[in-house]
Amino acid sequence: MRFAPLVIVASLFAAGSAFAAGPCDLEIEGNDAMKFNKDSLSVPASCKKITVKLTHTGKLPKASMGHNWVLTKTADMQPVANDGIPAGPAAGYLKAGDARVLAATKLIGGGESDTVSFDGSKLKAGEAYSFFCSFPGHVGLMKGTFTVTK
Ligand code: ZN
Repeated sequence: MRFAPLVIVASLFAAGSAFAAGPCDLEIEGNDAMKFNKDSLSVPASCKKITVKLTHTGKLPKASMGHNWVLTKTADMQPVANDGIPAGPAAGYLKAGDARVLAATKLIGGGESDTVSFDGSKLKAGEAYSFFCSFPGHVGLMKGTFTVTK
């Protein structure tokens, strides 16, 4: 069994490439049916940096079916969405300097993607967070829970 250690190393490399993203790197998709492909996301509390990649898998332009990925406390979600509408598309339908916004990607159209990275220490395990799209009218369908696990 003298080759056993080599086999173990090789399989670790294989597992590493299969899960290269890691628990602090999340991916989510939005589509032309005004839906995210996930209704919940979670990260371990140990994440120093959290990265979320949003991909718009549809074909419609940003002006009619724009999507972003915005993270707030659950209690702040609807007020942030409401307050973002007058900010307009150039601001990604988010009020400038809104401290309730914990993280947000750019507003994107079909075929585009954007990634946001933020400091995991801003989040607390046990707090109720939600993610949503702040494009006017999308928050009703495009939202989900974001959990920080111990
Ligand atoms: Zn949207």
